[in-house]
Parts: sequence; C-alpha cells; structure tokens
Amino acid sequence: MKQKGVLAIVSGFAGSGKGTLMKLLLERHDNYALSVSATTRQPREGEQDGREYFFKTKEEFEEMIRENAFLEYASYVGNYYGTPRFYVEEQLAAGRDVILEIEIQGALKVKEMIPESVLIFVTPPDAEELQKRLVGRGTETEEVVRARLRRAVEEAEEMASYDYILVNDDLEETTGQLHAIVQSARFATERQTAFAETIKKSLAELTAGFA
Ligand code: 5GP
Repeated sequence: MKQKGVLAIVSGFAGSGKGTLMKLLLERHDNYALSVSATTRQPREGEQDGREYFFKTKEEFEEMIRENAFLEYASYVGNYYGTPRFYVEEQLAAGRDVILEIEIQGALKVKEMIPESVLIFVTPPDAEELQKRLVGRGTETEEVVRARLRRAVEEAEEMASYDYILVNDDLEETTGQLHAIVQSARFATERQTAFAETIKKSLAELTAGFA
C-alpha cells in the first residue's frame, strides 16, 4: 500500500519570508504539492487567479462554505481565506507531501482534525526585521502594515502550539531545515502503525512453532 503524504502546515508572521521559502522548497524538491487557497481579498499586483489564490467574492466564498468545500477556513484582517478540501485529499492519497501556507486559526483547526499533520511556524530573526520586510514589500498601505503587525503580536502568543519554529535568517538554510522536518515526519511512529502491526503479527507467527 502506498504511504500517504505528510500534511505540513506552514504559518508565520506576514513578512516572515514564508512565501519565498515555499517557492524555493518547491523548486528544489518534486515531492511537494502546494495547496492554492481561496480568498475574498483583492489580488495584489502580479497575482493571478488560480496561482496565488482563487479570488472569490464574499457570496461565492460563503457558498463554498455551505457546500463543505473547505478543509478549513478563517477570517484574517477582514477577509476570508480557506483551503479547498479536494486537492489536499487527492494529493495526500497519491503520496505527495502537501503544504498549506495558512494562518494560525486555520492551522490549529487542521491539527485538531488531522493530528498527524505537522505544524511549522516561520519567523524572521527579530521584530525590526519583520517591520522592515513588511514596509519594504511596498504593496500595502501603512494602515494595513500596522494591522498586520498588531496581528503578529497576537500570533506570537500562539507560536507555542506549533510543532516546530523555524527562524528564517538564511533562506537556503531554512529551506533545507523545512525539508528535513517534513521528511522526518514520514517516519513518525503514528504514521507507521499499519507497518508495526504487520511485522508484529508476522514475528509472532514466525516464532509460534519454536520450542
Ligand atoms: P495574504 O493576504 O498576505 O496573502 O495572506 C494573509 C494570511 O492568510 C497569511 O497568514 C496566509 O498564510 C493566510 N492564508 C492564506 N490562505 C489561507 C487559507 O486557506 N486558510 C487560512 N486559514 N489562512 C490562509
């Protein structure tokens, strides 16, 4: 039987560099599938429908909620964000490691539903660096930057609920660390119960006839 893929959930402060990290991870390794979320926020310049997000109206999004089309969804700084269920389930079943790049409320919901999923929190080395990256991105108004920084204060409280915290100082190094975490999750005992049962049984059978 093909082993199911690992469901890895990556969260982090806006400006932690997690988007770039995901891009590099996918470029370097071909066992990953990145889930594309749906959102009601406006596309940023350069973003394409179906690539960064599926851009939806509030009505369309709420219709998807009613149809149970989301694995999880949450409201973040005034907009809905949600993970379409079908793609994630299909890719995991095919043995690919699926990455969800989602915020904390959604991450904790998924962990509750799927306890063997791996929660990884990405953070820049310090608060000043975070502010610098957010401002430097230049795609947000000052008001939005402030809202995101205030949100980061709340998010910092939740970091402890994650399985891993990755300090993203050097992008290359962090990409390697992220890959190592996900790959080691493949061998976690809770994912190997079927194998453990099989070998226990065959060992018992093998030794049953021993004097
Ligand atoms: P942004 O607007 O900067 O693209 O994303 C804002 C936040 O929403 C980020 O923390 C991002 O990880 C999160 N996010 C993106 N997609 C989803 C999703 O499907 N579900 C949840 N819960 N959060 C998401």
